[in-house]
Amino acid sequence: MRKCLIAMIIINLLGGVLGSFALLAQNVLLGVLGFVGTALSVVPYIALLQAMDDIEDLRASVQVLQGRIYQMRQAVDTVPEVKTALDKQVSRHVWTCPRCGAVNKAGTHECESCGARYESA
Ligand SMILES: [Zn+2]
Repeated sequence: MRKCLIAMIIINLLGGVLGSFALLAQNVLLGVLGFVGTALSVVPYIALLQAMDDIEDLRASVQVLQGRIYQMRQAVDTVPEVKTALDKQVSRHVWTCPRCGAVNKAGTHECESCGARYESA
């Protein structure tokens, strides 16, 4: 995808610049407009590349956070009282079915997949 976008930018620039030179030979104003149009035509591609970079950064951040949450969960699970309190807190949001492993929506008391009842500890 990234390589495709970069190729599109290059094709746009090459085509636009060559076309603008051809126009410039006939009419200076049209040539200048061609160059300006060429420059503007690549802006959406560059913005898309930037957005893709931002998404990659966010993905990396999410992975780091997921790792930290996993480590915290491991630490919490070693202390039964804290594990119980955290399970109650988490159950307000989403919960994982102990029978089939499906993740269920907040506020539900039965598994949407297998119908098992949620047992809050
Ligand atoms: Zn289930």
